[in-house]
Amino acid sequence: MSPVWRRELRRLVYLLILAVGCGYVFFDRPLEALCLMMGAYITWQWLQLYRLHRWLDQGQTTVLPRTLGIWGAIFTENQRLQQSNIKHQQRLQAIINRIQDSTAALQDSVLMVDASGALEFWNQAAQNYLGLRNPVDIGQPITNLIRTPEFKAYFDKADYQEPLTIRSPINPRIYLQFNITLFGRKDRLILIHDITRLKQLEEMRKDFVANVSHELRTPLTVIAGYVETMQAASEMLPPRWGRMLQQMSEQSHRMENLLKDLLMLSRLETGKTEQPQPIELQPLLEAIRRDAASLSSSKHTITLTIDQDQKMMGFYNELRSAFSNLVFNAVKYTPEGGDVTLRWYTEGGKGHFSVSDNGIGIAQHHIPRLTERFYRADPSRSIATGGTGLGLAIVKHVLLHHDGELKISSIEGKGSTFTCVFPAACLSDNRDEANQ
Ligand code: ADP
Repeated sequence: MSPVWRRELRRLVYLLILAVGCGYVFFDRPLEALCLMMGAYITWQWLQLYRLHRWLDQGQTTVLPRTLGIWGAIFTENQRLQQSNIKHQQRLQAIINRIQDSTAALQDSVLMVDASGALEFWNQAAQNYLGLRNPVDIGQPITNLIRTPEFKAYFDKADYQEPLTIRSPINPRIYLQFNITLFGRKDRLILIHDITRLKQLEEMRKDFVANVSHELRTPLTVIAGYVETMQAASEMLPPRWGRMLQQMSEQSHRMENLLKDLLMLSRLETGKTEQPQPIELQPLLEAIRRDAASLSSSKHTITLTIDQDQKMMGFYNELRSAFSNLVFNAVKYTPEGGDVTLRWYTEGGKGHFSVSDNGIGIAQHHIPRLTERFYRADPSRSIATGGTGLGLAIVKHVLLHHDGELKISSIEGKGSTFTCVFPAACLSDNRDEANQ
């Protein structure tokens, strides 16, 4: 038994003895005096209970009165707990205030959304970029406030590995990049970064490359034309001019190819509005095989296998350019006598165009970077083949434009396989159509 309880028990015993003693000495009625004392004791207990209950009921806002015995200990302990609770709350509030102040000062927007997608918190920047209203929008579904279909699809998909870039719903000139992080029970923390400046720079870069490529075409055509004319009359010139003219002609052709590829890339990047057309794959692939055979000048065995006669919805010129790049690379990087195998097949409903060769192959560490512009696995060799270093970048963009992807596998010294994979949705069977 704790000392408080022992003291309380002792006090009760003393009171009862006192009551019995006084009742006996003064009134000769010890039993009645005992009952009276018991009643007074119980009434006092009830009074303390009532005070405690009233204090709890009033939200613990007042100070508990001092009292005796066990109730005194209970009141003091309650008061102490209340004080430490208040301090704890004040500390938490100070932390929340600091977090709110620091997020308010952030230039990036911060939003917190619960598992059901309802807005819980946002900072001042979010208010400026998204036009949120405090406190009206608290608890509103975020997809009601940012109504762009891309955002809704991105938010609902719950795969936030890649950020999403869209225009601000209140100012279309501002580009916003959304990064979403899941935490707790599918709650979401959304960070929004204004990337308008970056977008403008990217646009400027695209425009610059497109304009320069376009502007350089005419002077280059003139120079190439004159070189050709001079070559035709080379017997009238000193013999060493012949080699110089030959080199000038080769380099101007290289520059023409470079400009052609740069223009193609910028066309792909700017994204066109034209509609995809149905493309017969067999004639397209046959034509590419014939071009490759003429490039190889019968130095390689080039075979084409088409497992399924199909049509594909897409852009003819882009596909021809992408497939040709892969096939010509296979010819360029395969020594004489090698095999180049082209194959169209479907797997898992998806269309595959693969180009395999048993040529020089590519070291593994180069493979992830091959589709970068001007990236070459073996620069000296690639330049010697007359390559621009843009071929695989074009392939990547063409495939992106067709919702496809490029897979590369290669073993150095043994050969490579480049496979274009197209979604099932863009394919149709020629045989099925004929039967309909
Ligand atoms: P390039 O015009 O230099 O061929 P590409 O973008 O088409 O540029 O290819 C990038 C690099 O990838 C090439 O420089 C070459 O090193 C490597 N490459 C592409 N295809 C093959 C292949 N079939 N075999 C070996 N290396 C290849």
